[in-house]
Amino acid sequence: MKGKKGFFIVTVICCLFCFACGKGKEESILVVGTNPEFVPFEYMEGEEIKGFDIDLMNQIGKKIGKKVEIKSMNFDGLLPALQSKKIDVVIAGMTATEERKKHVNFTKNYYISQQNIMVKENKEHNLEQLKGQKIGVVLGYTGDVFISSKNEYSVERFNSASAAILALQADKVSAVILDEEPAKQYVKQNSGLSTFAIYEGKEEYAIALHKDNISLLEEIDKALEDLKEDGSYDKLYQQYFTK
Ligand code: GLN
Repeated sequence: MKGKKGFFIVTVICCLFCFACGKGKEESILVVGTNPEFVPFEYMEGEEIKGFDIDLMNQIGKKIGKKVEIKSMNFDGLLPALQSKKIDVVIAGMTATEERKKHVNFTKNYYISQQNIMVKENKEHNLEQLKGQKIGVVLGYTGDVFISSKNEYSVERFNSASAAILALQADKVSAVILDEEPAKQYVKQNSGLSTFAIYEGKEEYAIALHKDNISLLEEIDKALEDLKEDGSYDKLYQQYFTK
């Protein structure tokens, strides 16, 4: 009886202490920013945000004991939101570029990609043939940075991949440059388009965090490693990337 009573008192004191700190609940939520316009990494299905990145993030959340809360934002608003600590992490098929690394930290990569050209079927299908022509990109994507660094093209910037594809279909641009997987998905969903890889460098997708948040970075890296070791990452990869 005495023992039970003691246990009860200790439990009550612990609960009161946690309550007084008021931190328990807050700390267990991980606010994740993404831009759901990047199939199959993140996209809208009805009202819901779905995709490889979302599933991966939820699995990471489970490993590190945090509840994942996904926030949808514009792609170019993601890093500013991270820097002003409105969100804790960004997962958005985001390439860990040297430029971005000046402002935020990235975890180890979780996916390797490259840029693709999309054209109307039977049209020019390499960069050489497209010299002097109008190329569509999404503002601020790595495809924009890549083609803008070359002087031989006139670059048209769009706010989303779907807007760029519409311009391609309406012959307002000769080609669109986009990351490989979303490009393949657009080709699948829209007849009359084809896509080709640009063999100029690989891109590593990684999760971005505020420079201050080193302990969370380490936790996520460890969780990623565990998911790769226990087969969960491969399962997810099969689910999204094998045709
Ligand atoms: N990988 C590209 C980038 O980082 C595109 C990302 C995206 O559209 N979500 O700019």
